[in-house]
Formats: sequence, C-alpha cells, structure tokens
Amino acid sequence: MALCPRKFFRNMVTDLQLATRKVVSVNPATGNTLREFEAATDTEVHAAVVRARAAQPAWDEIGVRRRVSVLREFQRLLYQKKSEVATSITLEAGKPLVEALLTEVLVVLDAARFCVENAFTFLREQPVPHGNLAMKTKAGRILREPYGVIGIISPWNYPFSIPATESVSALVTGNAVLLKPSELTSLTSLLLASLLHEAGVPQDVFQVIIGDGATGSALLNGEIDKVIFTGSVATGKRIAQAAAGRLLPVVLELGGKDPMLVLEDADVDVASSGAVWGAFVNAGQACLSVERCYVHRRLYDTFLEACVQKAKPLRVGNGIDPQTDVGPLIHERQLRSVEAQVEDARMRGARVLIGGSRLPDLGPNFYAPTVLAEVTHAMQIMREETFGPVLPVMRFEGDEEAVRLANDSDFGLAASVWTRNRARGESLARRIQAGTVMVNDAVACFGISEAPHGGIKASGLGRTHGKFGLEEMVRIKYVDSDRMPGTKKVWWYGYGEAFTPQMEGFIDLMFARSLRQKLRGALRSAGAYLRKGRL
Ligand code: NAD
Repeated sequence: MALCPRKFFRNMVTDLQLATRKVVSVNPATGNTLREFEAATDTEVHAAVVRARAAQPAWDEIGVRRRVSVLREFQRLLYQKKSEVATSITLEAGKPLVEALLTEVLVVLDAARFCVENAFTFLREQPVPHGNLAMKTKAGRILREPYGVIGIISPWNYPFSIPATESVSALVTGNAVLLKPSELTSLTSLLLASLLHEAGVPQDVFQVIIGDGATGSALLNGEIDKVIFTGSVATGKRIAQAAAGRLLPVVLELGGKDPMLVLEDADVDVASSGAVWGAFVNAGQACLSVERCYVHRRLYDTFLEACVQKAKPLRVGNGIDPQTDVGPLIHERQLRSVEAQVEDARMRGARVLIGGSRLPDLGPNFYAPTVLAEVTHAMQIMREETFGPVLPVMRFEGDEEAVRLANDSDFGLAASVWTRNRARGESLARRIQAGTVMVNDAVACFGISEAPHGGIKASGLGRTHGKFGLEEMVRIKYVDSDRMPGTKKVWWYGYGEAFTPQMEGFIDLMFARSLRQKLRGALRSAGAYLRKGRL
C-alpha cells in the first residue's frame, strides 16, 4: 500500500489535537475558570477499562456485607462534608447552595441509605417454586450477578446526585464503575471519587474519566459490560446506535417535557406555588421540571396571577449567596436556546406576563423567571425541552382534554396532577403516558430513593433508583438443580407409541377443567413414569 504523506501528517495532527483536548470547569455565575483538564485519550480510556476489569472480581468476592459497610462509611463522610460538597457543586453548576444541599447531597445520602438497607436482601439467592408438575423435582434459584464493568455517562445539571446514585447502586451490587462526567462538571465528579475512595472503594473499582463527547464515545467502544447514560435525547440515540453494534445493554435517562395538570378542584395557592418552584428550581434545568402547565379554564386567570405574584419576589443571582432563589443557566448556549423558544412563543401569540429576558447585570448566564400565557402546541415552548426558568401556561376545558394535551408529546418522563380529590388525581395518573406521575407535587420524585426513575417514549429506556435501579446493575442467572440426579427424565428419548397418549393424559391432569377429566388424565399418564426403554 502506497504511503500518502499528506494524509499521514493530517492524521498525525488530528491525533495530536485529540490528545490535547481541553475540558474546562467554569463558574456559570461569574464566567471564571475554576480548573482546566486534559480530556482522557482513547489509550487512557482503554487502560482504565483494563484496570477496572482486573479489579472487579475481588470487589465482587468481598461480598455484599463488606461493600455495604464501605457505603456506610461513604455516607458518613458525605454527611460530615456536606457543606463543602454543596459549595463545590454550586460553584461549578450554579444552583443555589440550599438546592445543592437538598437535591444533590441529601438525595445521595438517602440513596446510600437505600442501598445499605436493601442490598443484602436484593442480592440474596431467590428460590423459585415450580408450578408445572413435571418440574416439581427441580429446585430453582435466581442469582443476581454483577455485570462487571459499568460505564456511567452523566450530564451537568445534577452533577453529583445523578452519577452518585447510579454509582452506589452499581458498586454495592459488585460492579466496577467508570464514570465519564459532563465536560462542564468534572470537579464535582472528582469530589465524588475522593469520597468513595476514602470510604474504601478501591481506586480501580471506581474511576473518573474526564472528557467530552468523544471521550464518552471512546468509553462506549471500550470493553465495558453495560452503560447507564443520562443526557439529551440526541446523544441518547447516538449511544443506543453505538451500543447496538455489540448488543451492549443500555439504560437511557433522557430529556423530559413534563406536564402539570391543574384540575378545577385544585387549591390554586398550593398549585401555583408548586408550579413556580417546579418550573424554576435549578433555573429550570431539571429533567423533571414543570415544562408545560395546563390549567382548568375556571382557574386559569387566578392561577396565572398567583404565579406572577410568586415569581416577582424570587431573587436571581449567584447561587453561593444564601439569599438566592434562582441561579444562572449553565452556559451561553443554553441561554440562547431558552431565548429562542420564548421568542418563538412570543411571535406566535404568547403573552409574557413576567420575565422573558436576560439579566446581563447579574453576570453572563442569567435569565429572568418567566411566565407565559396563551401558549399553544404549535409553539416550540410546548413541544421541545426548554431547560430554562420558563413556565408556559395553557387552559383546558375538562379532564379529557387535559389528558389529551398531556399525552400530546414526544416525551414521557414525568407528570403531575393537582386536585383536592386524591382518588381523582390517582385515577387520572393512570391515563398519563409517563414513567412517573405525581399527585399534588412535582420534581420531588427524584428524591424518593425507593421510587424507580425513568421515562417512556423519547424520555428513555430502563430505570435508575430503588429496586428497579438495582436490577439494572445485575445479570439474572437461573440455576436449576434436579433433586433426583439418578433418574432419567420422563420426557427423554425412547418415546414409543404409548408415550403420546400418556402425555395427553398428563396435560389433561394439569389443565382439564373438570375433576373427572383430571383424574382420568392422571390414570392415563401414570404409565409414563414407569416407562421402560428410556435411552
Ligand atoms: P448531553 O447529551 O449533551 O451530554 C450528556 C453526557 O453525554 C455528557 O457527559 C457528554 O459529554 C456525553 N456525550 C456527548 N456526546 C456523546 C457521545 N457521542 N458518546 C458518548 N457520550 C457523549 O446532555 P447534557 O446537556 O449534559 O444534559 C442535559 C440533558 O440531560 C437534558 O436533555 C436533560 O433532560 C437530560 N437529563 C435527563 C435526566 C433523566 O434522568 N432522565 C436527568 C438529568 C438530565
């Protein structure tokens, strides 16, 4: 093969560029650089996978009791360092300090509590009684075994709680973890790693791979056994395509466009407070944010007025200031995307009741909490994920229309129904296409460690959190052990002429409706058990 010098040098330059890709942590409230990192190269990613694979069997072998005690220590350390961790999260992700404490630190402390309390029972071998009479001589057991090496690829919006809750589930079940955090929040992941290592998780059993999308892609191409991805729908689809090539199992926690339904019997004061918090918490950058609000026509005007009155006093600012309610967006791109959606809505007839613009005096990435009225499903704001502090409110006539509007979406992560009649809310919840439906609250389901978290439709596949989150971290193995090892099985070869009617009799014994037919079947089949001439 002829060597093409131009191509050779071009490849070399590309390789050098890849080797020195920078990843920068920036404080979104000020625009100041916190730290610069070099993205891991493909070779480094590969080496990390090799180290993880080598370290995992010993981690599995120490057993669940020892792993639980390591998690307990992790929990103790996190509890001790809660303020330090929350401050670090606020500096890198922008959210108010109290939100860092509640939606990140507290969520992880509780997820660790869940694993500590449940991992032992979860991993215990599970006997399986057999219903089929022919299988009664067998003792069946379900074993839950770790996948091996689990890749976790995570976003920036909950840079601690998302990777940490997934990691503790993966670790307690005996897996090694390679975490590729968002390129925007590397520092927070390193903090997580230092806590886990200090608690006793071996260095190679939990590793952080700093980098960007290309680094995540290299991790996917590595010899990992499963990937737990949290991020946008577009990236999730790319991950699924890459994983399909080698049937790599995936969990995809993707975007949301969560509807909030305020029925005509709702408490307007409670529901409007819930809407304002649900739409503006983390500056609207939550997968579970209230992204669309539907209000019964009888409450519509009073509800809107209440939302505006409650949005007015919210203090937008640097999350490190304890007075702050709403922090900055993560970066300029996010700000432009929110602006474009609000502009699109405005052009199509939406009314901006409050907000609707940047707040440049506060810093580079601030956007005012915004309430929109007269929105329709023709607007991007009601169809695409906004991921900003915007509450678009639309009116509906009755429950049928409310359910139709809620389900008229590509997404299906979560939803909420607000009503004084809980039974009515729960009944409506069954008709809404979503992974979670809350009655009289929003967003908070992420803080319930027992509740499975995940979506349907474009919001993803699989679950994290709780027992179902643990199930995603293990392979199911069925061990069947025959109690009569010295006996040839009835159904083995040596069929002969009599065997078919005997087996018909056996099927009658098991499934005929009348007792007489069952008894007749039992008699017909009896000969089969004593059948001579089995091979
Ligand atoms: P993103 O998809 O841009 O990035 C997520 C992660 O994927 C990052 O670590 C990124 O580096 C990595 N990545 C990017 N391209 C990749 C590739 N080709 N191969 C492998 N990895 C790649 O998402 P984001 O902007 O960081 O996060 C915001 C999105 O995450 C929103 O859509 C939000 O709704 C969603 N989200 C979902 C949940 C959930 O639980 N369902 C939770 C939080 C955030």
